[in-house]
Amino acid sequence: MTHRKWAEYHQLRPDQISELVDQTPIAFWPLGLIEHHGWHLPVGYDGLKAERVCVRIAQKTGGIILPVMWWGALGGHGDFLWTHYQTTESTAQILYTTTCQLVQFGFQVIVLLAGHYPWQQILDQELPKIQLDNPDILILSGTEMSICGEDIKLTGDHAGRAETSYGLALFPELIDLRELRSGRDLSVWPNSEMPPKEKWHPAVCFDQNDSLFGQMGQPADEASVDEGESAISALVDNLANKINAFLD
Ligand SMILES: [Zn+2]
Repeated sequence: MTHRKWAEYHQLRPDQISELVDQTPIAFWPLGLIEHHGWHLPVGYDGLKAERVCVRIAQKTGGIILPVMWWGALGGHGDFLWTHYQTTESTAQILYTTTCQLVQFGFQVIVLLAGHYPWQQILDQELPKIQLDNPDILILSGTEMSICGEDIKLTGDHAGRAETSYGLALFPELIDLRELRSGRDLSVWPNSEMPPKEKWHPAVCFDQNDSLFGQMGQPADEASVDEGESAISALVDNLANKINAFLD
């Protein structure tokens, strides 16, 4: 495996950035969100997932990784504690402005990897005009389900078997499967109040006493590190190959 030089944007001085952009003009921007991800996963799960995947790609391509975009919009967990949804407009505006700046600053490949699936809607809305204005740059964008196009489509869920498997492959140190237990009461809700049933997302578990609370999809206790690792490796290899081919 080739290891190329990569670094985190905010830790670099201007001359270091210039040098790295000259060598490998690749920007990675992990798009996340702070959101309840079940009892066993950290609330920054989506951003952590995207960031760790970007690091793995950057090890094969080189480039610069932007700080995770922690503020996002949309989703079925707006009433849960420790969840911060912003307006779609403000989120979209930051995405658009920052991506245009990256183009202006000379990046030729821009990878916008979203860990939170509703980002897809904002990407679809904001990116086509940037790509149209800049036909010579490569913009790779989407979630792990969409960013490889037809080549690879990973399974998605919310804190269930798929996301937990990816997490076990990417940051096992932040996951505790023993927390998948029943026994919590209403105090886990903001103001100790469960939202009214009409506000429940139909596919999300809203029973705080259930070990599957907050999850959507197949249960997290079916997750495995092997399942996560093979899916993530396939995604990483596909994107790294595309980026390296584009720049060669
Ligand atoms: Zn998620």
